[in-house]
Amino acid sequence: MQRMTTNHLRAPRMLAMAALSLLPTSACLHEVDEGSDFFEPEDDRSNEALQGLYDCTEHVDDGYRQGNRFDISVVTVDGRPAEVDTANAYIAMQDAARRDGVSLRIVSGFRTNAQQQYFYGCYVNCNCNSCNIAARPGHSNHQSGHALDLNSSDSGVSTWLSRNAASFGFSRTVPSEPWHWEWWGEDEDYDGPCGDQVSGGGGGGGGGGGGGGDPDPAECGALPASGGVIDDGDACFVAGGPAQYLRAVEGSGHDGDLLWTGTTNHAAAVNFAEWHIHVPAGRYLVEAYVDADVATARQATYAVHHAGRVDRVVVAQTSSGWKNLGPFTFADSGTQKIRVDDNTGEAGSLGRHLALDAVRVTPQECPRLEVSTSGAPLNVRPAANTSRAAIGSLPDGSVVDRRASADGQAVSGTTEWHQIQTPSLVGWVSGAYVSCVQ
Ligand SMILES: [Zn+2]
Repeated sequence: MQRMTTNHLRAPRMLAMAALSLLPTSACLHEVDEGSDFFEPEDDRSNEALQGLYDCTEHVDDGYRQGNRFDISVVTVDGRPAEVDTANAYIAMQDAARRDGVSLRIVSGFRTNAQQQYFYGCYVNCNCNSCNIAARPGHSNHQSGHALDLNSSDSGVSTWLSRNAASFGFSRTVPSEPWHWEWWGEDEDYDGPCGDQVSGGGGGGGGGGGGGGDPDPAECGALPASGGVIDDGDACFVAGGPAQYLRAVEGSGHDGDLLWTGTTNHAAAVNFAEWHIHVPAGRYLVEAYVDADVATARQATYAVHHAGRVDRVVVAQTSSGWKNLGPFTFADSGTQKIRVDDNTGEAGSLGRHLALDAVRVTPQECPRLEVSTSGAPLNVRPAANTSRAAIGSLPDGSVVDRRASADGQAVSGTTEWHQIQTPSLVGWVSGAYVSCVQ
């Protein structure tokens, strides 16, 4: 679940003013049931981009219960105002639904008295809101904070809610209104992120994680000498920090699943993931998988802990596929891992998703290249050809890391080019002037 730690997100508080819907009732005002909506609020989908985001910044508003005013604490979920305890339970429920592949969204949450007066006036005067019947001001459970209208007509939502909502304290209180759900649970049963139960960040940048009773991922099994993939969910993978901020998505990512969490610009990490690497000592190419259908972080930073040092590689998670983090030498003892923290420097208000998915480790048959040019410097090009100006050069006899190889422009009878890496340069050199060294 994405944190929106400051008050960047202000609820639009737009409330389907142009509600168009059914329920051709002509009930006498005194027959108006408390809790009924009588009309389905229009779902204009204007908050789809905010789905799954929340802002725990509270404001006190005027709540009403059976016509009596009281102070109500309102936060923002899915871009909609919601009472804080109802919001916590909803966030937990939304997270569980997501794990089942179902996307819950609030269409209408807390309503102010002015908004309810508007709907009621439309009904009494029959001059707006399709003359739909509406609860008297002060008598809607959208004003008491207990009611949420959900996207019940979206695929799978009604079925999922009917099976699972009760375990989160939600129930459908009006049989003819499948969108209208009310929460009447115990707030201490839902360890949501908002209100008094805020866990205060936690995590820090430290080792953290682990989870009670789980096997230590640092002690996970070794990959074969031929390398392999460590995916989320594997024994060598661990995701840490508050679980409600770690979202599982089925049907995306490497092998059909991934985790993501929101980016932050905090000093310390809250959520993170680690891939522990146990391989025979040697030189390996390390890649990270990105599914840009989900991922949007632009400064995902992979810290590669290897052979007593840490190298950080920044990856824009804006296109899908295996991202080359570069070649690294791993030792056969000590901490060998890749770690990604959520504090990429991208503010939570940007709504960016940091994907925590698979890492691939492949032994390098040709880990380094030695330049052989009879004395002249060797040009380093931006691509595997000479059509663009050199971006640097390598002195004769120098040894550099090889990241990748590809076919390109023929030079002195060979079409092979190598992508090389130095501390200050990544580019391509012709295979005609280099040879592999260990
Ligand atoms: Zn409702």
